[in-house]
Amino acid sequence: MARETQSILVVEDEQAIASFVAAYLRKDGFDVRMTASGREALAIVGSEPPSLVVLDLMLPDLDGMEVCRRIREASSLPVLMLTARDDDLDKIAGLEMGADDYLTKPFNPRELVARVRAILRRGGARTRPDAGVLRHGDIVLDAGRRECRVGDREIRLAPKEFDLLWELLDHHGFVLTRDQLLERVWGYTFAGDTRTVDVHVRQLRRKLGEDAPIVTVWGIGYKAAPARDAAG
Ligand code: CA
Repeated sequence: MARETQSILVVEDEQAIASFVAAYLRKDGFDVRMTASGREALAIVGSEPPSLVVLDLMLPDLDGMEVCRRIREASSLPVLMLTARDDDLDKIAGLEMGADDYLTKPFNPRELVARVRAILRRGGARTRPDAGVLRHGDIVLDAGRRECRVGDREIRLAPKEFDLLWELLDHHGFVLTRDQLLERVWGYTFAGDTRTVDVHVRQLRRKLGEDAPIVTVWGIGYKAAPARDAAG
């Protein structure tokens, strides 16, 4: 039975990188379309949406973050962001704008293909916990609504931030390594860039503020601290 060909839109103004990425994706059976322009990317996404977008952060017209934000306003189309090594980690707030993952240049094209496959396998922005409510002290995660509340405050979390917090709270008291978190939350079955985990933890701490129950276990990973009792 023929599998429907999945299409990837590569948005990158560096011709050499774009061609290189396209060649690897095509070799892996994807249909690839390329553009160097953020505006054109939005037009293509609007008229003929691909299965996934590989999006460079630095583009000559609209930057990748803005393109990602606009894609997210309209759809849950998966986005893999490309960043340069010297981009500040905080600039990778593209993740917060809803990118599913990011890869730092220079990267191994096989890793890019593997990540594209992983994102598509888990259904893009759709994520694993899709029902149930998890309570941890003042924090309430509602998987059906994808909502996070701390007391009566609603905290807006990006999809992967939500999943990461869920995974940590669901195993509170246990240390999870960065690799375990990459596998469980991002679906990687190979060694990925563990900075992805650190960036998301940083965002969670910023959003949850002093209520963030995430403890860094030096040299190993992260764990959720036990819930504080309302009385304590
Ligand atoms: Ca660029």
